[in-house]
Amino acid sequence: MANDNLDIKEFHWLMDMLQTIDVGLVVLDKDFKVQVWNNFMENHSGINPITVKDQVLFDIFEDIPKEWFRQKAESVFLLKNRAFITWELRPYLFKFKNYRPITGTEEFMYQNISISPLASADGNVNHICVIIYDVTDIASNRKALENANKELESLSRTDRLTLLNNRGYWEECLQSEYSRLQRYDTTSSLVMFDIDHFKKVNDTYGHQAGDEVIRVVSKLLRESLRKTDIAGRYGGEEFGIILGHTSADNAFTFCERLRKAVEDTTVVHDNVEIKFTISLGICEASKKLADYKDWLERTDQALYQCKESGRNKTIIYDLSSL
Ligand code: GH3
Ligand code: MG
Ligand code: MG
Repeated sequence: MANDNLDIKEFHWLMDMLQTIDVGLVVLDKDFKVQVWNNFMENHSGINPITVKDQVLFDIFEDIPKEWFRQKAESVFLLKNRAFITWELRPYLFKFKNYRPITGTEEFMYQNISISPLASADGNVNHICVIIYDVTDIASNRKALENANKELESLSRTDRLTLLNNRGYWEECLQSEYSRLQRYDTTSSLVMFDIDHFKKVNDTYGHQAGDEVIRVVSKLLRESLRKTDIAGRYGGEEFGIILGHTSADNAFTFCERLRKAVEDTTVVHDNVEIKFTISLGICEASKKLADYKDWLERTDQALYQCKESGRNKTIIYDLSSL
């Protein structure tokens, strides 16, 4: 008899512990009716254990993806093994608001979930225990770190003055575009352009004015790009553009539009009006080219021809000469 008393006492201690523990605890029967609902669950859901008792979980929480959770639970009933669901797989099971002051930026509580079989004395599993861990702090830190890494990655690829891709990254893009073209029956055009007599801009108006001219040209360039085009700052006042799925003729139209836009632009620096032009070389991708460097080289030759023949123009590299 004394022994039974002790058991009941221990049982109450256990229940007290389960009530106050800082994880969510839910016991469900085979029909997904709630049997146990601890303080944590009450506090975060605003629903008390009496209301929830013997109710089907999915009737109270319509957000829970019924079929998915049912499948998870069925396998626990059947195999009598624990199942885990991490926040990375699914951010939460119960849509609880996040009240944590430190991770206040997160709207909802991120949760890790474990589902355990509860075997009765006869060995049958007629109940499962769902434990909900609040992992908002971990998830939030991880996400912040991932965002910081993304930001860093983007910074390391971006040229500060022009906000275009820097040379290193742009050349990587050119290389992968070139190999892509080897595999698919499509074409692309490469454009290299350079500001005409830029040294004079620097010498006449100063380096700051020169920087402003580079910035303005870059902005005009950025505004003329389609989503699939990749532009980069190749050198000081030299730029490269990969025009995907574009013939030389279409690239020519693109270049002439940009050239005219630059020609029509006036940069005002320290109350002085500065006019300038650009020269553009085009080379369409071809099987005749040895590699991506060859592609770059031919495009640069077309640009050089512009410089030789008066500047402020666009020239297409003549592949028939190869
Ligand atoms: P061309 O018409 O043949 O292209 O003549 P250019 O004067 O433009 O060409 P050149 O290559 O002789 O001069 C380019 C100048 O650009 C030299 C360099 O000092 C200047 N430059 C390079 N990078 C920057 C930069 O970031 N800011 C400024 N302000 N000037 C730069
Ligand atoms: Mg120049
Ligand atoms: Mg140059």
